[in-house]
Amino acid sequence: MNDSNNTVSQIALLKQKLGSAKIALEGINNEHNGKLEQLIHFIGQLSLACKGQNLELDNKLAKLRHRLHNFDSIDEALPELLSIEKLLQSQYRQTMTQLEESRGSLSTLIGQIQRINSAPEKLKKEINYFKQELTKPFHTVWDYIPKMEAMIRFYEQILHDELLQSDHYEILPHHVQLARELATEISEIEFRKDQRDQVLVLKEVLQGDISLDILLESYHTVLSLLLENIAHEKSASQDFLYALNDALTVVRDVVNSSHNNNQRSNQIKQQLNKEINLRVNNADCILVDVNNSTELKVQLTSQLSALKEALSRKEALEQREQNILKKSIDSMRKELNNITQEANSYKEKLFEHQKLNLLDPLTQLANRTALEDRMEQEYRNHIRFKTPLWIAITDIDHFKSVNDSFGHTTGDKTLQVIAMALKNSLRESEFVARYGGEEFVLLLPDVNEEHISQLLNRVREKIKNIPFRFKNQRITVTLSIGAAQVMDHESIEDTFERADAALYRAKSNGRDRIVIDL
Ligand code: GH3
Ligand code: MG
Ligand code: MG
Repeated sequence: MNDSNNTVSQIALLKQKLGSAKIALEGINNEHNGKLEQLIHFIGQLSLACKGQNLELDNKLAKLRHRLHNFDSIDEALPELLSIEKLLQSQYRQTMTQLEESRGSLSTLIGQIQRINSAPEKLKKEINYFKQELTKPFHTVWDYIPKMEAMIRFYEQILHDELLQSDHYEILPHHVQLARELATEISEIEFRKDQRDQVLVLKEVLQGDISLDILLESYHTVLSLLLENIAHEKSASQDFLYALNDALTVVRDVVNSSHNNNQRSNQIKQQLNKEINLRVNNADCILVDVNNSTELKVQLTSQLSALKEALSRKEALEQREQNILKKSIDSMRKELNNITQEANSYKEKLFEHQKLNLLDPLTQLANRTALEDRMEQEYRNHIRFKTPLWIAITDIDHFKSVNDSFGHTTGDKTLQVIAMALKNSLRESEFVARYGGEEFVLLLPDVNEEHISQLLNRVREKIKNIPFRFKNQRITVTLSIGAAQVMDHESIEDTFERADAALYRAKSNGRDRIVIDL
């Protein structure tokens, strides 16, 4: 009995212990689950932090977060965890490789920046220090981003400095060409005497080393000179008109006052005539009426003296009239002289202008306009008198190299010398014009076919023999010439075209020669 009681109490004790063990186990389980939940929450947060590096990884982590959310399906998430772990490992390796590559690229870039010489010294030192820093490996993207930012700052600073320094723009061949053209154009404009020095300087500048600023300034100067000229001409014309107006006012006043004087004088004269007639009539009556000779004498004497006085008043009046008239005529003559003088000076200026309009300012030869006039005239003579007429076009050989080797000013002087020599090698009836640049046109009337080659070769030789000496170097300048004779029923323009084509052939046949289009 005792044994069975003992057994019962032992079982009860064991039950009690089991109960407390169960409670303790439950406590442990609860605590464990709590920690697990915390861990799962942490994994969820960690997976969010990994987001954005790899799309596959992002998807898998999202799925994992969903699974972990449901506590019961944690076991199912285990295979997922394994594949994610592999992905994470490969992602880590890839990130490290990329970071290393980025570090390499930054090193290359910094090497390029170091080659920019214009960077300020302080910046160069910073860049050097930065380059040394770049030798240390990157562990995370956060090592890379600040370096990248620093690099952008270097570029920004260099760019900023460059932009500040480069307020001058690059000069292109097209700008140089514009400058040369402007120089040629101003050579062909007639400027006033007081402007010519400025124009010469400008021309020299335009033919030298040019910058955009200089080019713009030159355009501005040319424009100002032209405007100044226009204003000057305008005010001169205005002055002339004012003078003319003044003169006309004087003439009008003189005519008016003469007219008024005349009217007044006429009235006085009429009165005086009446008085004179009256006196004569009175004298007649006295002769008829008076018998007594003494009284007759007295009355006649009185009438005669009144008559004399009226006549002398009339004479004085006429004298005064004449004086006034003389004065008026004098003042009108003076005004007329003034205005004639002014008109003459205008006529001279106009003539001068017309002459200058037909002259090439550099060589003082006839210009293209004058050539066109003369061509028309010679062509008319040719048609009328059936005399031969030749056109010869000459172009200096390799003239560009004279400019290139010795400068534009020497080129200009060469053109002047050649122009003079051409003019001097022709007869009075022959004509030479500067057609443009280094091209001249000769009009040669009355030359027969058998003489034309001789004539043109003489001209060519004459130029070739000019002893040019540039920078102590003896230089020979040669010409190529193309010529054509006006044929029956041919227009002068067609002849010109044939001469031009002949010149082209002379150039391509080796230059320093004449070609006659027959
Ligand atoms: P080519 O034998 O083929 O005629 O050669 P080139 O160099 O003479 O021919 P091109 O027509 O190519 O060049 C003509 C040069 O003449 C170009 C230009 O610089 C120069 N020129 C034109 N007008 C003037 C001027 O008024 N003064 C100066 N100094 N040079 C001029
Ligand atoms: Mg040419
Ligand atoms: Mg030439």
